[in-house]
Amino acid sequence: MTTLQADSLASLKDSLSGNLILPDDALYENARKVWNATVDKHPALIVQCATVQDVVGAVNFARNNRLTLAVRGGGHNIAGSAVCEGGVVIDLSRMKAASVDAPARRITIEGGATLADMDAATQAHGLAVPLGINSTTGVAGLTLGAGFGWLSRKYGMTIDSLESAEVVTAAGEVVRASATEHPDLFWALRGGSGNFGVVTRFEFRLHPVGPGVLSGLIVYPFSEAKAVLQQYREFMKKAPDELAVWAVLRQAPPLPFLPPEAHGKEMIALALCHAGDPAQGEGLIAPLRKFGTPWGEHVGVQPYTAWQQAFDPLLAPGARNYWKSHNFSVLPDGLFDAVIAAIDTLPSPQCEIFFGAIGGATTRPAPDATAYAHRETQYVMNVHGRWLEPADDARCMAWARDFFKASAPFASPGVYVNFLTADEGERVKMAYGPNYDRLARIKRQYDPANLFSTNQNIVPA
Ligand code: FAD
Repeated sequence: MTTLQADSLASLKDSLSGNLILPDDALYENARKVWNATVDKHPALIVQCATVQDVVGAVNFARNNRLTLAVRGGGHNIAGSAVCEGGVVIDLSRMKAASVDAPARRITIEGGATLADMDAATQAHGLAVPLGINSTTGVAGLTLGAGFGWLSRKYGMTIDSLESAEVVTAAGEVVRASATEHPDLFWALRGGSGNFGVVTRFEFRLHPVGPGVLSGLIVYPFSEAKAVLQQYREFMKKAPDELAVWAVLRQAPPLPFLPPEAHGKEMIALALCHAGDPAQGEGLIAPLRKFGTPWGEHVGVQPYTAWQQAFDPLLAPGARNYWKSHNFSVLPDGLFDAVIAAIDTLPSPQCEIFFGAIGGATTRPAPDATAYAHRETQYVMNVHGRWLEPADDARCMAWARDFFKASAPFASPGVYVNFLTADEGERVKMAYGPNYDRLARIKRQYDPANLFSTNQNIVPA
């Protein structure tokens, strides 16, 4: 470190309300870890910000010292883009404050909040924003990439509920982006990933949800997978927006509602959530139980917040993960044959493939209404390679890549930016689709030197 950098580091430290963590600090090892254990990066410093002024100071420090910069929300991104090698990490995990205005159906929430933080604040009032399916994910990264989950068929992508954002730009300015203030920036934030600045606060419009929702799992043996998938496809064509059903193929975890002989065996599960009157939902989901002979089910009315956390135990941090993803507009039989062949050769008990049904309200805005362009998508598929030992890296990654290739002929052209891994540079333009050129022009305006480059990067035009 030069004398100049050491001086400027000392003055950064003095200015902070939060923490500055350096490699010799006892907190460093934990602070550099992210959700995906295959990511092993060593930043030069981690700034755990407590205020917007801390974020401004850290952005200015990184820019003035020409250091690589990464921004950490919930630390879940599969590509490990919350951390960088040798540069500055702006860690927002201390900035989680939320404030709900229930009569106005609005929440403001800071950029380090998790989905659990947001659901807790909104569900206290029987309200919610569509978010993802693992409650420890960060609101920030999920939203900036567009965001979808159980409520999306009814209320759209997460960004479709975004009203405004407070952003620290590459110049260290604090600006508010909304439909009327910095409207280009506001457009870009809704799907343009972390390319445009550090979002310190989001404001969302809220929707009535629950607090009890009909939700749960219906599990079929793998031998019935093709018939279940075919009926699932036809069922979803007619399903109302209130009902989301995802198909998940993997080995059965030791769930108490499954017979012991099913544990550890390949299965197909229908995971469902009805965002409406549970009594009506019961009638709607009845056909799902007749796709074959279920091994078991666990379906009932439970708090929406409980359903939002139902998959957390299967998705705990610390495992090694590698993903490959496609979008689909239709699900042809050939795709089902390919997925069945892939599940026949699962390389670890934690690996899975899921088809997340979005469609509904997510498809209604025009493709150029927000930076997120893939409004035609009906299903987002993820091959989730997950295992524990580094020795299994090559085998498990090869499995994910093989199914990705086998399913490619059936996919639509786009891909979900938040599911891209670190080695998919060639797919980044595809993720932004026809909106890439406009994004590159807005990038030039707000971040001409590409300070925010540790992400699925948009190169300034
Ligand atoms: P981080 O790794 O902290 O950040 C990711 C990127 O976002 C960073 O590189 C940075 O560029 C940017 N960023 C983060 N915070 C900020 C900020 N405050 N300001 C500016 N830029 C910022 N996605 C869905 O849509 N639906 C799902 O159901 C879903 N399920 C998931 C389940 C699991 C187990 C995991 C690991 C991910 C899931 N995702 C889902 C994907 C998720 O949306 C992305 O991984 C997302 O990037 C995570 O956000 P984060 O803040 O936790 O990540």
